[in-house]
Amino acid sequence: MAFSAKTRKFLVAFLISGWSIALIYSALRAHPPKFPLKAKRLYHDNRLLMGTFWQVSSPNKQASGIVFSEASSIEQLLSKYIPASEISRLNRLGKLKVSADTFYIIKKSLEFYRQTQGAFDITVAPLVDLWGFTGQNFQKPGADKIRAVLELVGSDKIILHEKDNVVEFKLPGMKIDLGAIAKGFALDCAVKKLKENNIASCLINAGGQVYALGDNFGQSWKIAIQGARKPEITGILKLKNKSASTSGDYQQYFLRGNKRYGHILNPKTGYPAESGISSVTVIADSALEADALSTSVFVLGKEKAKALAMKFNNLEIKITE
Ligand code: ADP
Ligand code: MG
Repeated sequence: MAFSAKTRKFLVAFLISGWSIALIYSALRAHPPKFPLKAKRLYHDNRLLMGTFWQVSSPNKQASGIVFSEASSIEQLLSKYIPASEISRLNRLGKLKVSADTFYIIKKSLEFYRQTQGAFDITVAPLVDLWGFTGQNFQKPGADKIRAVLELVGSDKIILHEKDNVVEFKLPGMKIDLGAIAKGFALDCAVKKLKENNIASCLINAGGQVYALGDNFGQSWKIAIQGARKPEITGILKLKNKSASTSGDYQQYFLRGNKRYGHILNPKTGYPAESGISSVTVIADSALEADALSTSVFVLGKEKAKALAMKFNNLEIKITE
């Protein structure tokens, strides 16, 4: 759900309630001409996709249609909530020949699994179900149940048959969940499609994860970061051809007593990650990398995040404890 507010004459603010990033960007140039011959305007459009609210702003009217159609095809392929998706079928069958896109994203997920020493793990799906995050029927499972389900967790139990794009699980009952990476992948695919259509300027906000393509009439796109627990703006990012992804425990969580149980799980313990971070924003060249790594840093914590950042080019990590 989103609302927008006109804060100043030339300032448009989108504050996404339910997500921790707000977008603010200048709609005009810093020094607008006194008598502009041609209005420099942005077209805005919104759509609900991949379980979240997508907002597109671009000087090109066609941009939003291209973005939404690309994100929608990726959702049909990868969503665990769509019974006919390749991921749902793979989860039911335990072995499936998949499309090149699905194979690619599972392969990338296994790379992140290795690079994060298992903090990023798409095989957390049975745990996500057990804690009730899939159907919003939250529960705190017993330690014995968690131990049993942990047997099914571990991306080293996924076999990739490169020659024919077949994905196979080693154990019956295993499942995968691309919730921490699919949105990033969809953003990258959408940006690729925009470029193929010669669209060089566009800001996409997919429920708090953004990609800023090119610039906004000569200025960098300006993205405001909202506090994890309070709605105040805590910082402004200037982005050009970069993505920023935020992960935290303030959006999807449930409370038992005074304790908060968030939707990002530690695949080693089977419990929601408790690394001392309340929110992390990762800025990277690709949205897929920003998405996967913001989830990973949330599991790993501040110290291990520093070592992780060294493994990637042009990575910026902003942590709120
Ligand atoms: P958001 O969905 O808010 O963008 P993330 O990108 O951090 O948040 O993804 C969180 C989702 O990823 C969870 O809802 C769950 O489906 C899945 N997930 C939870 N823990 C992990 C993990 N350790 N590794 C990979 N995926 C995870
Ligand atoms: Mg993520």
